[in-house]
Amino acid sequence: MESFKTDVLVVGSGPAGSMTARYAAMKGAQVTVIERRSTVGVPVRCGEFMPDTENIRTMFPLAEDIEGLFDSIPSDLRLMHTKAIRLVNPKGKTTDLPVTGYTTDRDRFDQYLAGEAQKEGAEIVMNCRFDGIEDGVAKTSMGDIEYKVIVGADGPGSRVAQSLGLKRNRNPYPAFTAQAKGDFEPYVMMYFGGIAPGAYSWIMPKKGQANIGVGFSPKFAKGRKLSDYFDKFVERENLDVVTRTEGKYVPSEGPIDNTVSGNGMVVGDAAGHVISVNGGGIPLAMIAGRICGQVAGDNILNGRPLEDYQTEWRRVMLKPLKTAAFNKKLADIFAFHTEWTTSLCMAILGKRRMTNLIQCRRIFP
Ligand SMILES: Cc1cc2nc3c(=O)[nH]c(=O)nc-3n(C[C@H](O)[C@H](O)[C@H](O)COP(=O)(O)OP(=O)(O)OC[C@H]3O[C@@H](n4cnc5c(N)ncnc54)[C@H](O)[C@@H]3O)c2cc1C
Repeated sequence: MESFKTDVLVVGSGPAGSMTARYAAMKGAQVTVIERRSTVGVPVRCGEFMPDTENIRTMFPLAEDIEGLFDSIPSDLRLMHTKAIRLVNPKGKTTDLPVTGYTTDRDRFDQYLAGEAQKEGAEIVMNCRFDGIEDGVAKTSMGDIEYKVIVGADGPGSRVAQSLGLKRNRNPYPAFTAQAKGDFEPYVMMYFGGIAPGAYSWIMPKKGQANIGVGFSPKFAKGRKLSDYFDKFVERENLDVVTRTEGKYVPSEGPIDNTVSGNGMVVGDAAGHVISVNGGGIPLAMIAGRICGQVAGDNILNGRPLEDYQTEWRRVMLKPLKTAAFNKKLADIFAFHTEWTTSLCMAILGKRRMTNLIQCRRIFP
C-alpha cells in the first residue's frame, strides 16, 4: 500500500473495530480496518466470558436493540453456559451471584465479528501497524492512508487517542491468561484475596478445558510480579496449563472524558469502555462500536457531527460505567488492603449487594 484513500479508517480489528466497521459500511461508507496482528483475534488475551443478553440489558437498559446485537451471536461460539458467578473469598467461602452467561473462543469470536464487517463491504488489512498522524494523514507500516474519519479501536494503550490529543486510560492493571485442561463445573469462578491483590483470579469453564487467569493492581502487589501470582494460583488450584501465558492491560478507571477530537473518535478499550469492577469489555465494545460506526457512516453521507457518537454512548453507558468505577474505588479503599478486610467487606455486602456491584449498580442507596 503506497498511498491509499478511504472514507473511514478504523485502527484495530477487535470487537470495537469490527462493529464500527460493520455499521459504517452498512451506511454505505468506504471502510478500511488496519490491524497490526497477522490473524484476527490471535493470540487470545481474554477471559472469554460473555454475559447473557438479559444481563447486558440489566446493565445497560438504555441501549437500543440489545437483543439484535447479542442474540445473533452463533451457537457454535457459545461453548459452555454458566449457571452463576461464584465468588470465593480469601477463606474459601463461596457466594453464587445470579448472573448467567457463556464462555467462547475469543479468537473465533473476533473472527466472526470481523467477517460480519467484511460482509457489509469493509476491507481488513492485516500486518498493518498505525504509527501516528501527520498533516491529517495516517502513517502506517504499509504507507500513508488518507481518510475522512479515523477511529481508534486499538485497545488500552491507544496510539490513535494519543495522536488525536485525547487522554489515554490511567492506571490500567495487568492481567495474565492461559488455557488449562480438565473438566470444570459450569460456574464462572472469581477468587479474591492475596492470590490477586486489588483484583481477582478466575477460572472460566469451557468444554474439556478452562480459561484461567489472574489480574492485579500493582499498588497492592508490594513489588511482586504478576507471574508470581499466576504461578501460585496454578499451583494452589492444581491447574494443568496447556498453552502459553498471554498478558495484557485492562482499563480500570472507567471511560476517558473525551472520545472525539476533530475528525477522530476512540472506542472500546481505547476509550475506557470497560466495567472497572470486573474488567469486562466485550459487550461494551460492541455497543459503543455500533454507535461509533453509525455516526461515522452518517458523517460521511450527510455530515452528521461526530460529537453525536459521544452524546449517544454517554447516554447509554456513562452512568453504569461511572457507578462501576466508583464501586471499584470503594473496594480499593475498604476491601483490598488485607485478606481480612476483603473477607469482611464481602460479608457485609452479601449476595444482593455484590450482584449490584457486578452489574454496575449502586451498592448503597
Ligand atoms: C486478561 C484479560 C481478560 C479479559 N476477560 C474478559 C472477559 O472474560 N469478558 C469480557 O467481556 N472482557 C474481558 N476482557 C476485556 C476485553 O478483552 C476488552 O474489553 C475487549 O477486547 C475490548 O475490545 P477492543 O476492540 O476495544 O480492543 P481489543 O480487543 O484489544 O482490540 C484492539 C486491536 O487493535 C490492534 N492494535 C493495537 N494497536 C494497533 C496499532 N498501532 N496498529 C494497528 N492495530 C493495532 C490490536 O492488535 C487489537 O487487535 C479481558 C481483558 C483482559 C486483558
